[in-house]
Formats: sequence, C-alpha cells, structure tokens
Amino acid sequence: MASAPTHWDLAVVGAGPAGAATALGALHADPGLRVALLDRVDFPRDKACGDGVAPHALDLLAGVGATGFVDDRVPVDRLRLGRGGLVAERRMARSAWVVPRRILDARLVDAAVAAGARLLRHRVRDLWQDTDAVVLDGEVRAAVVVGADGAHSVVRRALGRSRGPVALALRGYAPVTAGRRGAQVIEFGTRHQPSYAWSFDRGDGLANVGYGESLHEDRPAPTRARLLERIEALLPGATEGGRHWVGHHLPLSTARWCPPAGPVLLVGDAACLVNPLTGEGIHHAVATGIAAGRAAAAALREGRPERAGERYARATRRMLLPHLRHTALAARLARSTRAVEAGLRASAADQRVFDDFVELGLAGGRLTPAVALGLGRAFLAPLRPTGRPQEPA
Ligand SMILES: Cc1cc2nc3c(=O)[nH]c(=O)nc-3n(C[C@H](O)[C@H](O)[C@H](O)COP(=O)(O)OP(=O)(O)OC[C@H]3O[C@@H](n4cnc5c(N)ncnc54)[C@H](O)[C@@H]3O)c2cc1C
Repeated sequence: MASAPTHWDLAVVGAGPAGAATALGALHADPGLRVALLDRVDFPRDKACGDGVAPHALDLLAGVGATGFVDDRVPVDRLRLGRGGLVAERRMARSAWVVPRRILDARLVDAAVAAGARLLRHRVRDLWQDTDAVVLDGEVRAAVVVGADGAHSVVRRALGRSRGPVALALRGYAPVTAGRRGAQVIEFGTRHQPSYAWSFDRGDGLANVGYGESLHEDRPAPTRARLLERIEALLPGATEGGRHWVGHHLPLSTARWCPPAGPVLLVGDAACLVNPLTGEGIHHAVATGIAAGRAAAAALREGRPERAGERYARATRRMLLPHLRHTALAARLARSTRAVEAGLRASAADQRVFDDFVELGLAGGRLTPAVALGLGRAFLAPLRPTGRPQEPA
C-alpha cells in the first residue's frame, strides 16, 4: 500500500457520522480533493447511542450520492410517547430506522472511502495553525481541518471553545418486550426534565434500551446503577437480559450558534449540536458535516482555505439557527411537568401536532402554529388526572 501523504487538502478528525458526512460533502463537491479521515479506533466500532436514525439524515446523505445504509433494516412506523400513564401513540409521517452504530458508522466510513477519502488510524492530540496549513500532532498538515471528534473534542478544546450544557445517557441491547415490538417507545422521567427512558425495536429480536437526563452543576451525575434503575422504573422489564451497556455524554445545543471563522471547523457533537429535547444528534452531525465539506471544497476552489469557516458559518446559520432557537425554548418548557403533559395531550389529540413535534425532535423542525395552538388548548383544558387520552384510530 502506498504510504499516506502528510499534506492534505482536508483532514477530518473523527470518522463518526459527522466526519464521514464531511468527507462525503467535500468529495461530492470536488472528487479530486485529497481528504484524510482520521479516527483513533478501527471500524467497525460501537458507540453509545439509541441507534435511532431519522429519515431526514438519509435524505441528506442521498444528496451527496451516498445511499443503501438501511436497505437490510426494518423500518419503524410507530412512536409511543408517555409519562405516568398519559400516552400519545401514533404512526409517524415517515418511518424511522434503528441501526446499531457498529453497523451504521462502518457503512458511512465505507461510503466516504469509496468516494475517495483516505481512512487513517490516528488519535489526534494536538493542533496548531502554521502560516500555510493546519498541523495535527506535528505530522499531518492540511489546508482545512474539520473537528468531528465527538463530545470530548480535542479540536474544540484546541480552538479554546468550551462546552455548554450536557446530558448523560446509558444504553444496552435487550430482548424486545411484548407490547414494545415494532415501535420506538419513549417514557418521560418524573424529575430532572428533560429526561426519558427509551426502547427502540431494532427489528431483529433485540431493542436498544436506555435512559438519559440533563446534568446540572448542583447535583451529582447519576451513576451507572442509577441510570439502569431509571430505565426499569420507567419501562418495566426493558433491561431484562440486557447486555453491552455503555454510557456517554451528549453536548446539547443552545439557542446560540457561533461557528469559528478560519480554516478549522467543528461539526456534530464536537460543535455541541445534540437536540436538547430528545438527545438526537445524528441528523445534525450529518447536516453540519455535509455543509462543512462543501464549505471546505468551495474555499479550496477559490484558493482561500482560511475562508472555509466563514462559508460554513453562513450556510449553517441559515440552516440551523431558527431550529436551534425553537428546540432551546422547547427544552426549557419541557422542564415543567405540566408542559410535558400538555405536549402529550396535544399530540394524542392531533396528528399534525404529533408530526410537528417529531420534526422538532428528530430533524430541523420548529415550534409551529399547530404546536402552539395544541399546547394552548391542552393547558386550558381541565386536567384529567388519570387514564390515557383517547388515541384516534
Ligand atoms: C446513549 C446515547 C443515546 C443516543 N441516542 C441517539 C439516537 O437514538 N439518535 C440520534 O440521532 N442521536 C443519538 N445520540 C447522539 C448521537 O450518538 C451523537 O449525536 C452522534 O454520535 C454524533 O456524531 P459525531 O460524528 O459528531 O460524533 P461520534 O459519533 O461521537 O464520532 C466521533 C468519532 O471521533 C473519534 N475521535 C474522538 N476523539 C478523537 C481523536 N482525538 N482523534 C481521532 N479520532 C477521535 C471517535 O473514535 C469517533 O469515531 C445518543 C447519544 C448517546 C450518548
């Protein structure tokens, strides 16, 4: 095998969904680019995740010529949202997918390599900017670098940027329990909002089950035992026979979005872009990855790699900012039990409200007039303390 060059047009640190999408975005824009995709581990590798993949993320990947990621997977049509006996269960406007990250991420990396990226095993520890290049660990030079290295990003730290709010979540794989087959089930917690336990049917006899909650400075982070206990408390039986328990931090997005200017960009979890309402991050990882790849290709084309950050900021502000503001507001509202219950009632009463909440939670949706109206009605309606709201057929 030819030895890897040490000077690249684009070096992407981290080969998860954000990193692979960055390479795909760049190479789709200019197949002649020399793109290095660096990761500290070999693929396939596991990653703590609910494995829920929004169809919107697959649309974005198809837009850069990458398809076939879920051809052998079973789609999930139903979503059940609940809290203490209150349930909204409906068919989603579009099927979602549950793909173990060991499978999904390896497929994404394969697609990036097929498009022309060079996958290199390398743990990046250090980064600095030289006059004509960004230098990684003194050995890898690139005109543009994209930090796609996840929640504890080294690239983010090298840029002197801190992380905002975080959540902690634990997931495992367990035999799917009767009553939770063919569905994505979410049961909201009774405290520490937003928090929830989930059971996502993988379609192969197993479910991805887990629990996550936002962390706060004024209370200790929950232990692994405590997280497991919360899953069982909210979804009885879900952990039985469970294996492969792993936990991880989720860097949550806020209403602000100020990507750095210059030749070093941040995408996905490295850019703190996990939805604060739902913990979903794959869609934004793919969306920002593709945008960063395109911005890098355009800046390189004009011979101004230092303009990549500016181009990326312009594109992502348009794409993300309204959504980030709306999810930040929704996450604030979701700290109130009354608001969560009003959301469930409104979703149970009206398919449009349900669909709009799904868009807000999974992709780039907003708090729509239908959601505002539904919430208003649910707040004003007399409280029904027990029972499940009637779900229309
Ligand atoms: C328990 C849990 C459940 C979740 N459930 C969902 C869900 O159901 N749906 C959803 O959309 N999102 C979910 N998320 C969020 C989702 O996992 C992340 O948002 C997503 O993985 C972000 O992708 P990424 O590529 O930015 O980062 P990652 O997937 O974390 O990839 C980062 C990559 O960088 C590599 N890396 C790290 N440091 C270095 C370094 N120094 N040098 C080289 N390589 C490095 C890592 O090995 C890794 O491959 C969940 C998260 C957790 C913790």
